[in-house]
Amino acid sequence: MKLHEYQSKLIFAKYGIPIPKGRVAATASEARHIAEELGGRVVIKSQVLVGGRGKAGGIRVAKSSKEAEEFATQILAMEIKGLPVRKVLVDEAANIDQEIYLGITNDRAARRPVLMASAAGGVEIEEVARTSPEKIIKIHIDPLLGLRDFQARDIAVGIDLPKEYWKQFAEICRGLWRTYVECDATLAEINPLVILKEKHLMALDGKMLVDDNALFRHADLAEMRDVDEEASIETEARKYGLSFIKLDGQIGCMVNGAGLAMATMDIVKLFGGEPANFLDIGGGASSDKVAAALRIILSDKNVKAILFNVFGGITRCDEVARGILSALKEIKSNIPMVVRLVGTNAEEGRKLLADAKMITAESLVDAAKKSVAATKA
Ligand code: GDP
Ligand code: MN
Repeated sequence: MKLHEYQSKLIFAKYGIPIPKGRVAATASEARHIAEELGGRVVIKSQVLVGGRGKAGGIRVAKSSKEAEEFATQILAMEIKGLPVRKVLVDEAANIDQEIYLGITNDRAARRPVLMASAAGGVEIEEVARTSPEKIIKIHIDPLLGLRDFQARDIAVGIDLPKEYWKQFAEICRGLWRTYVECDATLAEINPLVILKEKHLMALDGKMLVDDNALFRHADLAEMRDVDEEASIETEARKYGLSFIKLDGQIGCMVNGAGLAMATMDIVKLFGGEPANFLDIGGGASSDKVAAALRIILSDKNVKAILFNVFGGITRCDEVARGILSALKEIKSNIPMVVRLVGTNAEEGRKLLADAKMITAESLVDAAKKSVAATKA
């Protein structure tokens, strides 16, 4: 689950990380009131669950409360990367000397959390990561020992942070680490962490991803979910109890079982395709669940072929076939569909699909090859 900037920063503040004074507003007049309270010079920040708001014009520094209202009006009318702006954060404007990047995430390859920092923080950090990765300093954290003080100091040295800020920087690193662990986050990021002209550090932006599988033990965080702002496709999937993750490829995958779904994606890639999604319809998936899954896959304009890989155990292949057929009744689609059905009631399932102009496959390899070929046809 993604948190908004204002939510992330409030959490950071609980862990002792300094943040600017400010509040969130849903209307321009509210924004003006907050700006008045803060003395007029404020930054108006769109609250949408995507990065790159600054570059998209969704962050504006206002010199007066009147200007704050104008900017809020404009920003509240914007759409950023397809997401409408429904709220703005009105923060006291900061006098920035330097922008630093600081983040903690999971390094799966190292099987550890990794703390990353760069003196070249700010809106160009992705570019920095691509063109000069050596400017990003990384330190792995032993999850049992936690972040050690010497590691925070090593990072401070690595990014050439002036010594007068080391103590505060170490406190912020500790606060970020505690945020990451105690919230079951998969990402806790401050970009930029700034050195202010007033000679101290402050988190100007905040981004957090919380592990969905841990939300059951964080009722307070679960409540922060902003359904309006999430990719609607994933909200839809959650409603039907489907595990769905959108990806950038062209082959939609509908699979029962998470492990099989991963294997399917691997095989698709092995034969030169790119999966458009991860989707686990679960065991014993009913036909309306399958229909919902198909609607979701087809709503992605990148999808050029769909691969159904169903290993019938608890899930009955005939039930899946009925789901596909009922979904196809609603949604007319010319997208080629390749089906591999094996296991419980496979024969019956295949019979049901025989008239539906689907491409059948004997094995997963065969299905992957046919799907890839279909995207090229
Ligand atoms: P993002 O583009 O979505 O990452 O949004 P950020 O919150 O990181 O803001 C983008 C950029 O706007 C920052 O890197 C800063 O350069 C600038 N910015 C944000 N807040 C302030 C502020 O209070 N004062 C000034 N002068 N610039 C700011
Ligand atoms: Mn940022």
